[in-house]
Amino acid sequence: MSETRTLDEAPTDAPLVSARGEGNNRREEREGDVEDVGLHHIQLIVRPSTASEAWRLRTSDPGATRFLGGGIDVVLYTPETVTTLIDLSRVARVGVSEDRRGLSIGAGTTLSELLEAREAGSWVGGFLADVLRCVASPLQRNVATVGGAAARAHPWSDVILAMLVLDAEVEVYDGVARSVPAAEFYAARAQDVAPLITAVRLPARPASARGAFEKFGRTGFDVGLLNCACVANVVRGLCGGARVAVGGTPGLARRLSDVEGFLEAKRLSRETIAEAAMLAARIVDARDDRRASETYRRTLTGVGIRRCLTQLAGIEGEGAL
Ligand SMILES: Cc1cc2nc3c(=O)[nH]c(=O)nc-3n(C[C@H](O)[C@H](O)[C@H](O)COP(=O)(O)OP(=O)(O)OC[C@H]3O[C@@H](n4cnc5c(N)ncnc54)[C@H](O)[C@@H]3O)c2cc1C
Repeated sequence: MSETRTLDEAPTDAPLVSARGEGNNRREEREGDVEDVGLHHIQLIVRPSTASEAWRLRTSDPGATRFLGGGIDVVLYTPETVTTLIDLSRVARVGVSEDRRGLSIGAGTTLSELLEAREAGSWVGGFLADVLRCVASPLQRNVATVGGAAARAHPWSDVILAMLVLDAEVEVYDGVARSVPAAEFYAARAQDVAPLITAVRLPARPASARGAFEKFGRTGFDVGLLNCACVANVVRGLCGGARVAVGGTPGLARRLSDVEGFLEAKRLSRETIAEAAMLAARIVDARDDRRASETYRRTLTGVGIRRCLTQLAGIEGEGAL
């Protein structure tokens, strides 16, 4: 059963249906100045309790509804045609669990909760935690959900970059519950109404798996001009099952399968790393935008991949350019 209220019906001293949406909407009621407040076009917040109910509400009027996770993007980018928010706080599981197949992260888990979860902190030698610590600011991580970050698909997303190199599976519901590899999920994002994300699963990796991440930004809290990540099993210096991805090119993060193939079964020597970095810089789908030129992005790709692989190889003193 959904819990539903219009903003007009909400008593001034009672929380609105969604605690996460409460701040803005309450300000709107009290100040009575809808012109200056975001989301003044929202008339209804609905809180379904099952994925099928959430999906039915979303598809009943796709132009007028949106899912609501932590609300960071919803507040900033929701078009005026949207009048109903579907609060996922009763649908999207909060929490992280580990079994022999890997890590399962509920879509309602905030990035801070994920970062603080013991299982996630040590995932792939601390790689996942290293990435999460670079996402926006702690205040934003306290609000942003894994489901929202995965669904919004910002081109510079550090979360999606990590999902790609960790071979993540996205658990979705769009009338049917199914699990889709992240690479496939992001390659096929043409659906009219993007599916509801219920969880993200990270498959188990051998103890030899290591990861490294590099993000180039103007400030510590800024989104990246470009980001890179590599994960591989390095056994006695030999590289296996490498995953290499680059994001913010300015397109959405993508794996560089030619670089991954080049690294397979190779010793991670300085020469191999230099060659892999050059290959990445050459083949990356870099373009100009107002934030950086194509040439600069190719240079950053080479430097970033070199730093990541150097870290995986455990070579000292080679981290900086
Ligand atoms: C100033 C700023 C800096 C940022 N810096 C970074 C950064 O450095 N690195 C980085 O990776 N990201 C960064 N972000 C992006 C941030 O991580 C995302 O905005 C945030 O994760 C969105 O999560 P949310 O839960 O608030 O999503 P919401 O705003 O609630 O939702 C985002 C979108 O996804 C939909 N949605 C929400 N939940 C689901 C779900 N479970 N299933 C399907 N659809 C859903 C919503 O309808 C909406 O369209 C930044 C954002 C801002 C505003």
